[in-house]
Amino acid sequence: MESENKGNVLMLKYEVGRMLGKGTFAKVYYARNLKTSQSVAIKVIEKDKVMMGGLNDQIKREISVMRLVRHPNIVELYEVMATKSKIYFVLEYAKGGELFDKVAKGKLKEDVARKYFKQLITSVDFCHSRGVYHRDLKPENILLDENENLKISDFGLSALAESRRQDGLLHTTCGTPAYVAPEVISRKGYDGAKADIWSCGVILFVLMAGYLPFHDPNLMEVYRKIRKAEFKCPNWFPLEVRRLLVRILDPNPNTRITITKIMEIPWFRKGIDGGMNGNGKEPQAETDRRETNAVSDSQIINMIEKGQDIRKLMNLNAFGLISLSDGFDLSGMFEETDHKRETRFISSQPAYTIIAKLEEIASFIKLKVKKKDCGRLEMEGTKLGKRGVLAIDAEIFELTPLFNLVEMRKASGDTLEYHELWKQDIRPALNDIIWAWQGEQQQH
Ligand code: AMP
Repeated sequence: MESENKGNVLMLKYEVGRMLGKGTFAKVYYARNLKTSQSVAIKVIEKDKVMMGGLNDQIKREISVMRLVRHPNIVELYEVMATKSKIYFVLEYAKGGELFDKVAKGKLKEDVARKYFKQLITSVDFCHSRGVYHRDLKPENILLDENENLKISDFGLSALAESRRQDGLLHTTCGTPAYVAPEVISRKGYDGAKADIWSCGVILFVLMAGYLPFHDPNLMEVYRKIRKAEFKCPNWFPLEVRRLLVRILDPNPNTRITITKIMEIPWFRKGIDGGMNGNGKEPQAETDRRETNAVSDSQIINMIEKGQDIRKLMNLNAFGLISLSDGFDLSGMFEETDHKRETRFISSQPAYTIIAKLEEIASFIKLKVKKKDCGRLEMEGTKLGKRGVLAIDAEIFELTPLFNLVEMRKASGDTLEYHELWKQDIRPALNDIIWAWQGEQQQH
């Protein structure tokens, strides 16, 4: 953890301890929040190893999405910090380690395998319902907490792995394709949900068998078996599990069973009662507990939604912000603004999407784009209004790797004309890129 880590304290906030594990592109350390004493896992990624020159927009979006998926069986991402060379993901600590360390000791009993499979399917379903796909479900990503409940890690972070593949560098170190769906292997372009279901099927097989369904010393042979879904269930698999596996490990994603259907199967439902998700805990209670532990993003988001002052948000987050934004002058953001002219909103979209949306709006309301870069857009009318030509400026500030603050203001022209345009056209059109308005009282 070298330079940013004075003694073994990271960012004045986390006391960093032993290394928990090592992935292809990250090291994971145990750490403790100095203020709350909460145990966390910190995943450290060398920026230049994964993405050559900073977080790219796709990754930022994936991280912001990951923050949306709060579920008792998903490792929570508490915060993201960065320095010039490293990114730190502060994650919920899964004390029980990897589920597959258990399997390595021998196959699991049917009831235990079912419990983990249920937790896996319910959490994957939850993510899918929010439009998030893992795309890289495999043993290393399945951890356990201190109560032997399953915790999926890296949900949403698979973009990191994707970018790794795209740059070609680490392609050969991706390891076994054992968990990957046939349509992913053939690179046809695939449906993330269907591909995740396939991986869940492979995981169920492994839990119950203690070995992989598609397995061969020759990699080409593994590929062939996966494409044909050629696998054989051991004789101790109950009939219901065999039937289920045949429907999950269907090489055709179009006919592959859906999660809804999996959940209807009596074998899956066994033991489910009264809204528990199979881990013996009410999901809501778990979430509530977590939210009192630390200042979470959802609390921050809440503040914005309630229209509380952005400066409070900035103060809360100032340390992270400064560490993220070398040479980024925050002072301008703390100044009082002319509430009549300026509107601010937060977007979890990357800057280029925000700019594209603003350009679309400009064209719709017949403004010309006068100047554009990734942080700023100046738009101008083509005809003279009551008080000259109407011009609108928009500026994008990176709040965190996940959130952008967008400021829009009338640069010139008639205020009334601007207000009309704002109300009628601009504001409604912005809806699909807005995470939250900064203080509804500032709206026109
Ligand atoms: P990864 O790069 O995610 O594959 O992480 C490497 C290893 O670090 C994993 O296989 C785990 O053993 C460990 N690890 C990752 N995340 C956590 C976590 N949230 N809690 C505990 N251990 C973790």
